[in-house]
Amino acid sequence: MSDIIQLLPDHVANQIAAGEVVQRPASVVKELLENSIDARSSHIQLIVKDAGKTLIQVIDDGLGMSETDARMSFERHATSKIKSADDLFQVQSKGFRGEALASIAAIAHIELKTRTPDEELGTCINIEGSSVKSQEVIVSPKGTSLSVKNLFFNIPARRNFLKSNKVELRHVIDEFHRVALAHPEVSFSFHHNENELFSLPKSNQRQRVVHIFGAKTNEKLVPVKENTEVLKIDGYVGKPEFSRKTRSEQFFFVNRRFIKSPYLNHAVVSAFEGLLKDGYHPSYFLNLTVDPKTIDINIHPTKTEIKFEDEHTLYALLRSAVKHSLGQFNIAPILDFEKDSSLETPYHFKNRKALNPKIEVDRDFNPFVKSNTGSSNFVKGSFSQLDTGKTAWDALYHHLEVDLDNEKGTDKNFIQSFESKLENPGLFKDAHAQIEGISHQVDTKYIVKPMTSRILIVDQNRAHQRVLYEKFLKQLTIKTSVSQQLLFPLELHFSKPEMDIVNELQEDLESAGFLFQELQNEGLIISGVPSIISEQEVRSVFEQLISDVEHQVPEQNFSVLDLMAKSMASSIAIKKGQTLDPVEQIHLVDALFACKEPDFSPAGLKTFIIIESNDLEKKFK
Ligand code: ADP
Ligand code: MG
Repeated sequence: MSDIIQLLPDHVANQIAAGEVVQRPASVVKELLENSIDARSSHIQLIVKDAGKTLIQVIDDGLGMSETDARMSFERHATSKIKSADDLFQVQSKGFRGEALASIAAIAHIELKTRTPDEELGTCINIEGSSVKSQEVIVSPKGTSLSVKNLFFNIPARRNFLKSNKVELRHVIDEFHRVALAHPEVSFSFHHNENELFSLPKSNQRQRVVHIFGAKTNEKLVPVKENTEVLKIDGYVGKPEFSRKTRSEQFFFVNRRFIKSPYLNHAVVSAFEGLLKDGYHPSYFLNLTVDPKTIDINIHPTKTEIKFEDEHTLYALLRSAVKHSLGQFNIAPILDFEKDSSLETPYHFKNRKALNPKIEVDRDFNPFVKSNTGSSNFVKGSFSQLDTGKTAWDALYHHLEVDLDNEKGTDKNFIQSFESKLENPGLFKDAHAQIEGISHQVDTKYIVKPMTSRILIVDQNRAHQRVLYEKFLKQLTIKTSVSQQLLFPLELHFSKPEMDIVNELQEDLESAGFLFQELQNEGLIISGVPSIISEQEVRSVFEQLISDVEHQVPEQNFSVLDLMAKSMASSIAIKKGQTLDPVEQIHLVDALFACKEPDFSPAGLKTFIIIESNDLEKKFK
């Protein structure tokens, strides 16, 4: 057989390499910004159009390139940053693989303009899909301007794979944050579709964090400092009370390179032990400096993962440094006074006023006359069709026994009665006082209810999400939600991009029942909230909503209202671990089966399962 192996042409090899290096516009932004940093620039401008799909341009005032270098820079493995394999172990620059520009040039239209400080004229090169279209001498300012247009123009599959502009822009902003936070000594500006998103002057790290994440961030930062032979730590952690539902404020920089490290993250989180509420993440901005010889940056094409020689020591040092800072700034003791969440009033009793017990006398009661209406006053009104005791409960889920598909089994009055119960749970309590004990909570997660020939098991969190979701969606769609004025307006702080999201949603939030006194660049003042949300929950509702909008992949049928309803429902729904008394259990299960689609949570997960007595029989075999 003849030989069949051949070397791939360069442009093909470059396209393959691009698959690793360039996943989306944000990857290009990262590579270009890093090149500008490596070129010792002091001011860097980022200009983006349509989230980078149409244009990404980075203009710097750095070292620039000579005519030959300008041409060379697009060759694969062409780099000025290392010369030998030994250099790999003392990399000080961001780049060293020499493949970013070659990869980007393989999948986009590129215009490079560059001039070194000692030359009078600069060079302009145009490249499309790895082939040089033109090269000329031009008059240009010192430094480099690199424009990347029509990303993935020659790989339609990749282009179609890109997410909405909103999502892609979010990624671009994330990359921008990472570089800007690691280099506060450099000034940056960032424009998207002619709007200025950021203008960051030269500053120190603390100010940089504040410029990016908002003025209020300043008061939440606690400095962390440690200086040992193997590791220098320098940076900030957020006070525990400012911890967030998202991980969007967690940054490690190793030798000024942003990295992801679940292991080191664990070290920091464990230093916060006992100080964080469930589901909350601490903010941190930590610079670690280590001897470049002790790390390997070259294990991942985008260089965001690093191998450390001695991870365990770093872990211990980091954990103790953070712990020390939290202790020193007197953060730990404050929490001793924090209330125990298990002592908190159950969720739906929180906002209710104490009711005086009503004493009702049945004036018609005659002990000598046998009657089944007179004495049981709880079956009046909306409960009229329920019987007492065990049979009452079974009646509630009658439809499960009869026919799950049949318009909720029983009749409309039945459902209406549930709705009224939801609005008036007090009534409910009386009704069910007599049937307590016939449902159980397992693992503070499931509500288990035996019925005549089957067992119903409900996931409390998913069920509550479903209930709240339908309620919110209805209120949002028909704009009927009731607001409750706050006695003292509530101030919340967010970064500018986060506020952009809030601004976009303003109208919908208002129809959900939020009243805004003021929406500013870096925060908002809320004067009223939907009556279904308590004041304490407002912050987490906003955080969850922002993070959901940021990360939502807009599908065709994407609707903001739907997302809002989902997001608000998931942030305030009762969670696993929350103890529910029998009345609350039945209340929740009732509400679930009064829903339009009780079978699934808003995220499409099962809300309940049924175990038939046949299944039980099988278990006993
Ligand atoms: P790497 O950064 O790994 O060296 P790149 O493909 O990103 O590889 O860049 C190739 C070379 O082009 C760099 O080594 C550098 O010499 C030069 N270069 C790229 N961008 C700039 C810039 N903004 N200013 C000056 N030189 C640059
Ligand atoms: Mg580079």
